[in-house]
Amino acid sequence: MDAEEFRRHGHELIDWIADYFERIENLPVLAQIEPGDLKAQLPPSPPPAGEPMADILADVDRLIVPALTHWSHPSFFAYFATSTSAPGIFGELLSAAFDNKAMLWRTSPASTELEEVTLDWLRQMMGLDAGLVGIIYDTASVSSMHAIAAAREGVERRIREEGMSGRADLPLLRVYASEQAHSSIEKGIITLGLGQRALRKIPVDKEFRMQPSALAAAIKEDKRAGFLPFCVVATVGTTSTSSIDPVSEIVPICEQHSLWLHVDAAYAGSAAIVPEMRETIKGCEHADSLVVNPHKWLFTPFDLSVLYCRHLDLLRRAFSLVPEYLRTPEEAQVRSGSDYGVQLGRRFRALKLWLVIRYFGHEGLAARIREHCRLAKLFASWIQASKNWELMAPVPFALVCFRACPRFENVASEVLEARRDVLNEAIMHGVNATGKALLSHTKLDDRTTLRLSIGNIRTTEKQVRQVWDLLNEQLKLLQK
Ligand code: PLP
Repeated sequence: MDAEEFRRHGHELIDWIADYFERIENLPVLAQIEPGDLKAQLPPSPPPAGEPMADILADVDRLIVPALTHWSHPSFFAYFATSTSAPGIFGELLSAAFDNKAMLWRTSPASTELEEVTLDWLRQMMGLDAGLVGIIYDTASVSSMHAIAAAREGVERRIREEGMSGRADLPLLRVYASEQAHSSIEKGIITLGLGQRALRKIPVDKEFRMQPSALAAAIKEDKRAGFLPFCVVATVGTTSTSSIDPVSEIVPICEQHSLWLHVDAAYAGSAAIVPEMRETIKGCEHADSLVVNPHKWLFTPFDLSVLYCRHLDLLRRAFSLVPEYLRTPEEAQVRSGSDYGVQLGRRFRALKLWLVIRYFGHEGLAARIREHCRLAKLFASWIQASKNWELMAPVPFALVCFRACPRFENVASEVLEARRDVLNEAIMHGVNATGKALLSHTKLDDRTTLRLSIGNIRTTEKQVRQVWDLLNEQLKLLQK
């Protein structure tokens, strides 16, 4: 493709994207297709000869768009609602054009050094201390897995060299996380070969926060049984409810037993850039590592997760392996990304975060997060004011957990709860089927709970009012 043609298609594509964002609110949020529909429309084998760009782009409209669930739709309230932003898209575009593989400093000095500077900016915005040094991975799942690997390296049992299997000298290693911790922690433990039994889940209190006294008791019990505790994962902003583990109370327990404290702030860490919300990460200044996902609540296109780590030396010891063909004269002076993880080549992800932070500025980003929290609290106030609905958890950030709780006459309490579960599920499917909004669910204390997450850069009070109306319409309809 010559420069002229590239320019022409490039302009068309940017126009297409601008139109997409202008019309996105009229598209159904949830893809309106059945499993297999798209596959059935695609040729089973590749084209033998190249095709015109115009035909390919026409198929994006005809085939791909209908099969999309539109995460950038302002009424996307499911999971943790997240969205890209214009500067983030430009960052991706440039990164694709440069196509740098930032494995060594010299293969992409720009990526390596911009990553260090941009992550230091983010650290300052979050109010974290300079001892925490950032490194980018694709997702929080991978960031946490690397944090646990560094923690394991710190136990000094030559696991890197000798592995864990077939060793009579190695006790069962233990990691602690609350019952509400994200499944990625368990997956990381599985991936590292620690085995699922290495994870001890700590009970939570009524507000879904880890109970420090239960943590302390579990560690003592495990030590008595001859196990080797080495890591605690606290969560700031759990996935189901966005609850905040009491990090400040967990810190002294970790210190007492010399355990690595990893904080999963994948979702809520971004809120710490709002000065009056910085309290939510209190205690994290004592953490050994912390993960935050700019691709969740900092308007940065997927994927970009940041691991802040106080002991990069351990991370490096766990993963660095440099064959002759990757040796460079400057290696002692620079940081090379491939020394800190499983991957060799790394995408130039820092670029999009750098564009986002520069374009919006700290204040612009904080204002948007603050507004999302205001909208969530507004929605929660409607729930609280209505006799048909109830809140299922506190609302510390921009996630509301709630459910319909209508009365059913002469019904025993277990039957009542079961009926409410069925009703709430039907309400959620009813709202989602309209295509006008998308919600997701969880189970809290075994009860079906609806989740409304606000994190989209285009979401305003208008969409929050709309989804409230939709919920009430569905409730009325289903009660008839
Ligand atoms: N941790 C928490 C608290 C999350 O909510 C999630 C996802 O929602 C993750 C980790 C995993 O994130 P990722 O998709 O970046 O692996």
